[in-house]
Amino acid sequence: MLRVAVVGSGPSGCYTAQTLVQQDPEVSVDVLDRLPCPYGLVRYGVAPDHEKIKSLQGSLRTVLEHERVRFLGGVLVGGGPGGLPVERLRELYHAVVYCVGAAADRRLGIPGEELPGSWSATDFVAWYSAHPDAADAGFLRGVRSAVVIGVGNVAVDVTRMLVRGAPELRPTDMPQAALDTLTASGITEVHMVGRRGPSQARFTTKELRELGALPGTEVRVDPADLALDPADPAALPAVPRRNLEVLRGWAARPSADAARRIALRFFLRPVELLADAGRVGAVRFERTAPDGRGGVTGTGRFVDVPAQLVLRSVGYRGAPPDGLPFDAPSGTVPNAAGRVVREGDLSPGEYVAGWIKRGPTGVIGTNRPCAKETVTSLLADAPELLRRPVPEDPVPALRAAGIEPVPWAGWLAIERAEADLGARLGRGVVKLADWDALLTAARST
Ligand SMILES: Cc1cc2nc3c(=O)[nH]c(=O)nc-3n(C[C@H](O)[C@H](O)[C@H](O)COP(=O)(O)OP(=O)(O)OC[C@H]3O[C@@H](n4cnc5c(N)ncnc54)[C@H](O)[C@@H]3O)c2cc1C
Repeated sequence: MLRVAVVGSGPSGCYTAQTLVQQDPEVSVDVLDRLPCPYGLVRYGVAPDHEKIKSLQGSLRTVLEHERVRFLGGVLVGGGPGGLPVERLRELYHAVVYCVGAAADRRLGIPGEELPGSWSATDFVAWYSAHPDAADAGFLRGVRSAVVIGVGNVAVDVTRMLVRGAPELRPTDMPQAALDTLTASGITEVHMVGRRGPSQARFTTKELRELGALPGTEVRVDPADLALDPADPAALPAVPRRNLEVLRGWAARPSADAARRIALRFFLRPVELLADAGRVGAVRFERTAPDGRGGVTGTGRFVDVPAQLVLRSVGYRGAPPDGLPFDAPSGTVPNAAGRVVREGDLSPGEYVAGWIKRGPTGVIGTNRPCAKETVTSLLADAPELLRRPVPEDPVPALRAAGIEPVPWAGWLAIERAEADLGARLGRGVVKLADWDALLTAARST
């Protein structure tokens, strides 16, 4: 029996486990995750009001309930306190596939970025998604106007969450504290700002359109911002073309009298976060113009946008476990068709899939072919990998290292506790938001 550890239970980990057991009847898979809860960013990233995408958890669940797949939560892989070193993990399995994602945020690298009130969108998403590492940082305290820097789908998500009201948020599984804070917030204005033009924005049309359908919220677009880049092809690809149609529709609409406003702004490059009484008070932008090569250039004209909250959503980067090679510029683990490359050589028995393999791009489904490629490499190597003896069951070795894994039954107990909490609050399922509550529920089996 080929024994494989998959590190990470997000989409790429689950698709890797699924492909392994589908393609080889002689393989068993342990899916390890540092959290006691599975599903990675499907649980802790996908916006709570996107229930259809959230429901993908159902198909990932089927994978983790397969008879030759075992979920072991609460297992941190890598150096540091409480972590299992990658060298030790490697001894316990014939092969290890790292599917650890790329959830660290990219920085802007401008003055004022560290001011209170300036956060990465990752921090904000983690908070409303009940990630146990997230704290209530007082994101919305005293906030009337927010700036979201970035024009991708995550920027759209956080913009939408900032203006959603109680009737739409209450049915979600959002933790109660986040629900209370969001619905009581005094925010009236969110500026979502891109450095380049609308044809280069990365959001998709469905997500963009949703902003125009939010109750009590008006979307404003300045027609002057909708200039095309001379470097754009005459016939734009479908997504930017449709995005522009939506934006032009909004730009042409007369202004309405709504309680909240979303301003979509382009050709503005953040240059500094300005302080007001010790926290962020405004963002200074330089106006940009297309440089004719698909980029932008500064114009020397500046504009300040008042904001007591700034969310930076300018991309993600990998932060793999200590002990794995890392290519900092791409934020990925060097690999050849999923085989980890250490100092130019293939490293036997070590693989990667998902965001840590190819970078933070694509939709959830993109991780499926990515995982398949890795599994193809792994199964081709299997005869060689099987030569090395490994323990029948690695759990005793984990315990000896001071790690007590949360089994699938522990996760099911968390699910029950979340359903009970929701029932007590008169809501549906409500997520547990801290380590203590999760582990207490998990150990209550
Ligand atoms: C905010 C946000 C919203 C998104 N919304 C959508 C959407 O609506 N639709 C869509 O198609 N895509 C969406 N995506 C993209 C989608 O989530 C990713 O494509 C997908 O989650 C990547 O899968 P992954 O398995 O590589 O990483 P992840 O989903 O990040 O999973 C990685 C897993 O590894 C675990 N892990 C990390 N380090 C360790 C370690 N050292 N030891 C043990 N375990 C570890 C983590 O706990 C996590 O469970 C969104 C992404 C973000 C960031």
